[in-house]
Amino acid sequence: MYGSGVTPRYLSINSRIVPYADANVHVLSSAFKYGMVVYEGMRAYWNADKQELYGFRLGDHFQRLLRSMKVARMAGDFTPAALEEDLVALIRANELREDLHMRVLAYIDEDDGRMGSTGPVAIAMAAMPMGRYFAKEGVHTQISSWTRISEADLPPRVKAAPNYHNSRLALLQAKADGYDDAILLGPGGKVSEGPGYNIFIVRDGVLATPPGTDGILEGITRDTLLRLAREDLALKVIERSIDRTELYIAEEAFFCGSAAEVTPILSVDRHVVGGGRPGPVAERLLDAYLAIARGATSDRYGYVRSIRADAPKASARTAGSAGALT
Ligand SMILES: *Cc1c(COP(=O)(O)O)cnc(C)c1O
Repeated sequence: MYGSGVTPRYLSINSRIVPYADANVHVLSSAFKYGMVVYEGMRAYWNADKQELYGFRLGDHFQRLLRSMKVARMAGDFTPAALEEDLVALIRANELREDLHMRVLAYIDEDDGRMGSTGPVAIAMAAMPMGRYFAKEGVHTQISSWTRISEADLPPRVKAAPNYHNSRLALLQAKADGYDDAILLGPGGKVSEGPGYNIFIVRDGVLATPPGTDGILEGITRDTLLRLAREDLALKVIERSIDRTELYIAEEAFFCGSAAEVTPILSVDRHVVGGGRPGPVAERLLDAYLAIARGATSDRYGYVRSIRADAPKASARTAGSAGALT
């Protein structure tokens, strides 16, 4: 069973819709032996008033996937548009009408597991129901003694499965020490991010987040929030390096990511942040973000597309894979 507690009926492998149980990879593949997997995580939101499902910045996620594949030297001739249509076909096949998290994996799928293989590259997709990622209104965090990966060893801006070994060590250490989550510093001692989410702080009324060159994953949510903060909320915003002790004295701190959305950080190393409650900037940004993502307000940035969960499955691509459905 999948971790969300709901097993999707179908997954998509190489543009074919296949039953969940048939989505396999060989144990001797490079994907498995060397972790040769890059991926994306993105969301779609169900709007009950409009009876419509909205995908959020899907094209931007697929563009990042292709960039990750390039750095990882994965071969293949993929386009963001075709990948997006495969994902939409999968969501329709599963007839999903609720908030979703979608995972797209690009991996080296051969069975002799040679380390230098650059292909063939397979694409797997899954769409699962997902509500809020964190059950609580915010998280208590620890500065990890693990350092965030740097460009000198593994490329931080590539969304690669093996990078998550670093993230997991930090997360599991934090949990073992009685915290909810971790914040990783980069090799230079500056704040980078959480194990799978970017970080923002508010200091003296100014919203700040580490720049793309401080070893962060260049998050699409981070980019969205920067834009909403500047253009919609008229906040002062700066991308700059952040010191550890600034977290202790910030008015607010919060994580953000496709899964985490906007999640307030209530304490860092047991220093209470912003009164230990979600702060006003985090709350306003979350509201503005969800209003667009859920299709409740005008989409002035062209971020969302309707997926029409209940549209007839009539496209040529879906029809071509219909044989796998039966
Ligand atoms: C995916 C991810 C994020 C958040 O990126 P989004 O595009 O906003 O989902 C942040 N850090 C890491 C390490 C990630 O893998």
